[in-house]
Amino acid sequence: MTERLQQFVCRVDEVLAHSRCEEQLLPQVRTAMRELVAADDWLAPAMAQPHAVHYQQYLLHLDPQGRFSVVSFVWGPGQKTPVHDHTVWGVIGMLRGAERAVGYRRVGNALVADGAAVRLAAGDVEIVSPSIGDIHQVSNAVEGEVSISIHCYGADIGRVRRHVFDPATGAVKEFVSGYASTSEDAA
Ligand code: FE
Repeated sequence: MTERLQQFVCRVDEVLAHSRCEEQLLPQVRTAMRELVAADDWLAPAMAQPHAVHYQQYLLHLDPQGRFSVVSFVWGPGQKTPVHDHTVWGVIGMLRGAERAVGYRRVGNALVADGAAVRLAAGDVEIVSPSIGDIHQVSNAVEGEVSISIHCYGADIGRVRRHVFDPATGAVKEFVSGYASTSEDAA
């Protein structure tokens, strides 16, 4: 693991050891994430490889106690997620390129867009959480190029049971994202 990523992991570890609630921990993790993505010279090339068909999520670090995980999210040209939730807090830092996120909220059984689309450019940081707004759809915002964001979640996100939504019908389906790699691959 590179020194910059190691520093981030140590900071989050310390924050979680001393914080009891999201209001305490999220601003601190956000600051640490801002520092992590302030430079784009540390991500291992193996964790930055796009897939021809779908976006990739490479596990960079899994906390031994399962309190948090760090993932690189690699977008090929034109790729996007389904509308999905996380069920845990997440801090997203844009490392390379840009992404576009559209928030949604549930109104009865329907899904409605929640505010305007947000564009994250390199260096920007965004937060998701069930307490703030947890449903969104994200896409690569740079035409013809690879974009990469770094995500830190308050769980082993690849194993969390969460949901994808059909915005047209409001239909909900459970999913578990998994990882394109294990943290051993990153070592
Ligand atoms: Fe997401």
